[in-house]
Amino acid sequence: MAAFDVIVIGLGGMGSAAAYHLAARGLRVLGLDRHAPVHSYGSSHGQSRIIRQAYFEDPAYVPLVLRAYELWEQLEHDTGTSLLTITGGLMIGAPASAVVAGSLRSARAHGIRHDLLDAADIHRRFPPLMPPTTVVGLYEHQAGFLQPEATVRAHLRRAVDLGATMHFAEPVMAWNASPTGDSVQVTTARDWYEAARLVIAPGAWAPDLLADLAVPLQVERQVMCWFDPRGGIAPFLADRFPIYIWELDDGTAFYGFPAHAGPRGGVKAALHHGGDLCTPHTIQRAIHADDIDRVRRAVAERVPALNSTCLHAVTCMYTNTPDHHFIVAAHPRHAQVTIATGFSGHGFKFASVIGEILADLATDGTTQHPIGLFTPQRFS
Ligand SMILES: Cc1cc2nc3c(=O)[nH]c(=O)nc-3n(C[C@H](O)[C@H](O)[C@H](O)COP(=O)(O)OP(=O)(O)OC[C@H]3O[C@@H](n4cnc5c(N)ncnc54)[C@H](O)[C@@H]3O)c2cc1C
Repeated sequence: MAAFDVIVIGLGGMGSAAAYHLAARGLRVLGLDRHAPVHSYGSSHGQSRIIRQAYFEDPAYVPLVLRAYELWEQLEHDTGTSLLTITGGLMIGAPASAVVAGSLRSARAHGIRHDLLDAADIHRRFPPLMPPTTVVGLYEHQAGFLQPEATVRAHLRRAVDLGATMHFAEPVMAWNASPTGDSVQVTTARDWYEAARLVIAPGAWAPDLLADLAVPLQVERQVMCWFDPRGGIAPFLADRFPIYIWELDDGTAFYGFPAHAGPRGGVKAALHHGGDLCTPHTIQRAIHADDIDRVRRAVAERVPALNSTCLHAVTCMYTNTPDHHFIVAAHPRHAQVTIATGFSGHGFKFASVIGEILADLATDGTTQHPIGLFTPQRFS
């Protein structure tokens, strides 16, 4: 008999949540990660992640994000830590832009409380934002941000408290699923393990561990910048400034956060997509002047206070699917293997509910949550 019921490969945003939900159901869980707990080599670091409900990408995400909020609050309660800050959120762009029109569609479909603002309203309510008269904003009240490092740490801690075994700095080299569907073998740089089920949540390393899936994933280098705002930090404080996503006329977008106490302070802003393609093995982690200039050019006339000194910048990776919807499913050929990847730069807010879904799939082979959009078979 296997010493573990389930092995979870990858203990970042998604895998840490899966390990927690599996351990909470009384399963014997082994978690494996190639890096130390809560590291900055993958996709779940950088102090803040947007969470919002009027989901412009597709209304199908709304029930999932509503459940995610419940689970984040539960995790805060169980660990006595603050993980989620509600600030309100502003989706800015031309009325027909994907960000504005898509958010409005989801808000209307799901009855999400929102206000429609014209450019003058936006500037009056949030003085650092200087929108041209051609843009509008959809303001949603329950948006805000999560602290990614703290949430990964909280899920890991809960999983261990509930009996999970965690091995860090132990890369998985290979996994095998028995043809009978009842066991898996996992080989790491150090050892060999067996279990009944396997959850693979490898983030940007998916092409290494899920090569046989034949999903054309593209890993994209992204840079987050923290600026020292001209005129001081006060107008950016979280009690008066929202998270925002701003789509430009050419379809590119940037986003930002209120000031949030991090190790080096500052106000974070970044471009959404448009980064160089890379792999976790080849990514240029050094920051170049051009990385920061690209963000400065986006904010220069729109959030001019951030056209300022960059205090700190760091890389991160998006793992993109062709349609930018996630992959969360049973492995198409191995019923005892569950996979989660391709979060395409917008997965973190869902990590808590993805953990619940992965635990459902690994234990029951099915879930009540609507995940039809996330099947890998859509690419075949
Ligand atoms: C700059 C940036 C901004 C973002 N902003 C937002 C946002 O505002 N809102 C939002 O919702 N989402 C956002 N996202 C997306 C979100 O952060 C990701 O979708 C999410 O973090 C992905 O989590 P993951 O668990 O798939 O990957 P990761 O957290 O990277 O975890 C993967 C783990 O697998 C481990 N691993 C890989 N291969 C192996 C192996 N062979 N053996 C053992 N372990 C292995 C890695 O070490 C890693 O710990 C952003 C992402 C970035 C990069």
